[in-house]
Amino acid sequence: MKIAVINSGSSSIKFQLFSMPEGEILAHALVEKIGETGSKSIFEYGDKKREITTAVKTHHDGLKLINTLLREHHIVEHFSELDAIAHRVVHGGESFKSAVLIDDAVIEKIKELILLAPLHNGANLEGILISRKKAPNVPQIAVFDTAFHSTMPKEAYLYALPYEVYEKHKIRRYGFHGTSHSYVMKEAAKEMKKSPKELNMITLHLGNGSSACAIQNGISVDTSMGFTPLEGLMMGTRCGDIDPAITLYLQREAGFGVDDVDALLNKRSGLLGVCGSIDLREIEKRDDELSKTAIEMMVRRVKKYIGSYMALLGSVDALVFTAGIGENSHTLRAKILQNLEVLGVELDEEANRQNALLISKKSSKIKVFVIKTDEELEIARQSEEVLRKTQIIYQAEKYI
Ligand code: AMP
Repeated sequence: MKIAVINSGSSSIKFQLFSMPEGEILAHALVEKIGETGSKSIFEYGDKKREITTAVKTHHDGLKLINTLLREHHIVEHFSELDAIAHRVVHGGESFKSAVLIDDAVIEKIKELILLAPLHNGANLEGILISRKKAPNVPQIAVFDTAFHSTMPKEAYLYALPYEVYEKHKIRRYGFHGTSHSYVMKEAAKEMKKSPKELNMITLHLGNGSSACAIQNGISVDTSMGFTPLEGLMMGTRCGDIDPAITLYLQREAGFGVDDVDALLNKRSGLLGVCGSIDLREIEKRDDELSKTAIEMMVRRVKKYIGSYMALLGSVDALVFTAGIGENSHTLRAKILQNLEVLGVELDEEANRQNALLISKKSSKIKVFVIKTDEELEIARQSEEVLRKTQIIYQAEKYI
């Protein structure tokens, strides 16, 4: 079964073609700088790689280019030959609690949700609309970044604001990075030879965007990102948790407009804001005070979330590190896990230095894993599941 996963961003398209259920990657394409003069595209299949520098004016042209490349390399003649096209959609609001087959009603809902995620959902929707036009007979599936966190209880997702603010404006914690948290949770459970339902975990997605998730018996019960991906951990350019009164002060007293505050919190804060770089590899090599402080701030924030999630969950079977920083920075992991022995975490320093899969000692009550995230594969797997269920419903309807 051939499933294409499309992640359509504001100026880029990431495309991955899987053979399922094996999860083998048949082709990978990245079209960047759509609409700009210097569009650059990368196409990979097997062990071959092609770089294409041709102007890609629109998302439609981007998908057309990918289709041409697939045809030229005899991977797929046309999108209509695919068994399914799966789309990453950032915001599913309260409407989508799992992946769904896309129909007109789903499209309307995703449109409504543009209000909650203007940068992302609009671009995601564009990918869906173009793919539906290109391959109207192929099932299209939407997989939402928020869906994994739809199991959070009310006390986790509500902010302590007047209840009508939630009712009227849907202001609540939604959480993001759901496909990544879900993927690494399942992989860790496989390593422990247990069902996720038998396990409590804290998953730490630490990259340019970072979030922590408290998982109880296989479901998300709390997460650090909130109404938007700005809340929670300190990130590459995002501030994470701050006193919300700061935003008011900046506007009242420091001459900031709404857009200035937005740019400050989302694009100029985090590691970049404190020490001038978003690249942890570079920051770790530096010797200046602010770079050291930025790392300590990041570590401290992660520790605080681990501690609070441990208190919430009561017992924890595994801690899982993932994403660019979580998978690669052994020094940051070591700092985060320092002095956690009292909570049942014993780090195997050598395994940690090697970026091994299991980095806790045998005697450690809580297992600590480093697991490479694979959001595209998780999207393909969830889509396969949707297809399987749809097929079952379809078969059952035939016999009614
Ligand atoms: P992501 O958003 O998941 O791609 O993660 C990007 C972040 O991971 C950046 O801050 C990178 O500097 C960081 N990163 C990637 N590789 C390493 C590494 N080997 N050591 C430390 N940080 C890394």
